[in-house]
Amino acid sequence: MTGGLGGYDAVAEANAQKSVLAIHWSRICERLKVEVGEVEYRTWLRQITVGPVDEDEITLYLPTRFLRDWVRGQYGDRLGTLWNAEVPAIRRVELQVARPATDAAPAGREDTPPVPAAPSPDRAAPRPAASAPVAEEPRPAEVRTDLAAPLDQRFTFDTFVVGKPNEFAYACARRVAEQPSSPGFNPLFLYGGVGLGKTHLMHSIGAELVREGRVSVAYMSAEKFMYRFIAAIRSQSTMEFKEQLRSVDVLMIDDLQFLIGKDNTQEEFFHTFNALVDAGRQIVVSADKSPSDLSGLEDRLRTRLGCGMVADIHATTFELRISILEAKATASGVVVPAKVLEFLAHKITSNVRELEGALNRLIAHANLFGRPVTLEATQDVLHDILKAHDRRVTIEEIQRKVAEHWNIRLTDMSSARRARAVARPRQVAMYLAKQLTSRSLPEIGRKFGNRDHTTVIHAVSRVTGLMAEDPAFAEDVELLRRMLES
Ligand code: ADP
Ligand code: MG
Repeated sequence: MTGGLGGYDAVAEANAQKSVLAIHWSRICERLKVEVGEVEYRTWLRQITVGPVDEDEITLYLPTRFLRDWVRGQYGDRLGTLWNAEVPAIRRVELQVARPATDAAPAGREDTPPVPAAPSPDRAAPRPAASAPVAEEPRPAEVRTDLAAPLDQRFTFDTFVVGKPNEFAYACARRVAEQPSSPGFNPLFLYGGVGLGKTHLMHSIGAELVREGRVSVAYMSAEKFMYRFIAAIRSQSTMEFKEQLRSVDVLMIDDLQFLIGKDNTQEEFFHTFNALVDAGRQIVVSADKSPSDLSGLEDRLRTRLGCGMVADIHATTFELRISILEAKATASGVVVPAKVLEFLAHKITSNVRELEGALNRLIAHANLFGRPVTLEATQDVLHDILKAHDRRVTIEEIQRKVAEHWNIRLTDMSSARRARAVARPRQVAMYLAKQLTSRSLPEIGRKFGNRDHTTVIHAVSRVTGLMAEDPAFAEDVELLRRMLES
């Protein structure tokens, strides 16, 4: 469609657009360098190249998937904001992997782990799709579906959005996937609250190892581990069970807290664990608490679990929730306005699964009725979910906000320090916890360094009294309340 004489010349236009974008980009880079520092800039951002603009979206390229994911998780939001400030017509940034001539398209799914429907003795046969010559790996890559659970193909490093609360756990998982059984990372113990991505990371490790054709991987929940073990005892095949388990290169056990109080299964797991680690195999375990907090697990097991790398996934931040929503909205192909994403990220703070569920419903609705997603439609479609999340502020959030507001350390919320500068904010946090959550007084006391419920009662009446006396103080508390409720 390039025009001839004096006509519309698409090539010239594209070139002009390129050079204009290059000018904007160099200005953005200058700002980024100042914001993130030279080292961060050079490590992550310098590798970005600017691609085309399509309507309100600019595409930026990175050379590898890892970089793309990292940049998306860490800087995705910021890149969007900076581009929008430079060129108001650009409202979204799309990060893609550009590998010249081979992988310009978004990461393909064809290389996700094979999940044989019915395991057979020749599981080790090469997959029909694999046309490459057989590599010289010592052992065929496989997911031991006979032994364990199949991997969920949606859970890959690619689809995991990285942010401050999970970057350490992510980096550890990545490291284990790249180099299983490396000293210091065995076992890898991932812990954190419900719906924060533990299972997602474990499956990602499995998917990556299998994709690379490296090793045999078995993933299962601790619950399944127990049932398999019991079934093996019943059918008098424990030897076989043990041998199977001990033959894998990477064993991943999810939700280990399930084994609390199940002494025999714990014992079996402990032996399997030792046998595998001693044989130089990798173990990955997840739980809802750190090894030292998993009271109810045998001491020797806790000790061993804490011997490798322990990585926690913290509660999501607003920024991370926005990045996750953006990534999932982009993947869905439905345009979801930033306002709506912000609204969701404010309202649904507890776990990513719920956040994802809300967004999925919106997207399904938009697809079904062919209507654009708006804030009004969102409130309507998600009526019930939003209602359930109303006033569901967590005590941790309250403590964080209050500590930030008065510039004290978060740990002082549960410390024994009684200096006024610390004690007053702590009382305000207790007061707000009483007002904004449905937690009981003893529960609140416990979250503040195991204080007695009478301390909470005292805090509530003290703050109420002070608010009546001191309008400036009352305003501070009101402001905090509004911030927490929004
Ligand atoms: P957990 O095992 O910690 O309870 P999951 O790994 O099952 O949590 O995560 C719950 C849901 O949230 C999954 O659908 C997962 O894909 C999604 N999720 C959690 N964290 C992230 C993240 N950082 N990026 C993308 N998706 C995430
Ligand atoms: Mg899980």
